[in-house]
Amino acid sequence: MLANYHTHTYLCHHAYDEPRQYVEQAINNGLKVLGFSDHVPYPFKNGYVSDYHIFVSDSDKYVDIVTSLKKEYKNDIEILLGYEVEYYPKDFERMLNFISQYDYDYLILGQHFTFNEYDGHYVAFNSRDKNVLTQYVNQVCDGIDTGLFSLVAHPDIVNMTCDEKHKIREYTRLCEHAKKNIIPLEINLLGLVARRNYPTDLFWEIAAKVGNEVIISCDAHDAYRVGNKKEYERGLEYAAKFGIKPIDYLNLVKKTTA
Ligand SMILES: [Zn+2]
Ligand SMILES: [Zn+2]
Repeated sequence: MLANYHTHTYLCHHAYDEPRQYVEQAINNGLKVLGFSDHVPYPFKNGYVSDYHIFVSDSDKYVDIVTSLKKEYKNDIEILLGYEVEYYPKDFERMLNFISQYDYDYLILGQHFTFNEYDGHYVAFNSRDKNVLTQYVNQVCDGIDTGLFSLVAHPDIVNMTCDEKHKIREYTRLCEHAKKNIIPLEINLLGLVARRNYPTDLFWEIAAKVGNEVIISCDAHDAYRVGNKKEYERGLEYAAKFGIKPIDYLNLVKKTTA
């Protein structure tokens, strides 16, 4: 692994170790680029507070941590400041305005809920309601349409029990939209090694057919996962099952000032 763009910090309240340990692990495992992409601080209009995002009050702290590591390790590795972001229609603009005060390097689209989180469904929980998948794909496509994202993280995260035809239709819609907009899709190593409901074979069969660009990410919530060679090997084997050859680096969409 040469680059990992999906890395968390303890500021999201469900990741462990010191950010410095992630950097050192990345260097030890031969990475050239380490992108931190913690769950973006989302200042919801209605006052809702998400407990798995960086608290709005910790926003400066996150930027300070990553920026100082960037400087300190600049001769050893390229460190990037990013965010993992949901497309929540009611609060997306507000969130974007809020983070525009920071000089971040990139955004990845990681949609965990339908609608606006407080009024939606957590998509990793199993559902038999077909509309969950349709709504998820709608929001991912709307997110892609903003032109702000460099990657779709775990595009196959929805945990769905429904007829295969519906899944094929929706996965195809997502893959084709990503392809048209030249945005890569992520094979999520955390999902693979923790045996979550993703990665999903059917999704990657379709992505291979559509010809999407694919990258493997650690989605590291623990330092030892950063560039872990055994886990990366498993990711490559998984991709190879579908004839997918992952890319090493992302073409980053740079921050545009609103
Ligand atoms: Zn995620
Ligand atoms: Zn993540």
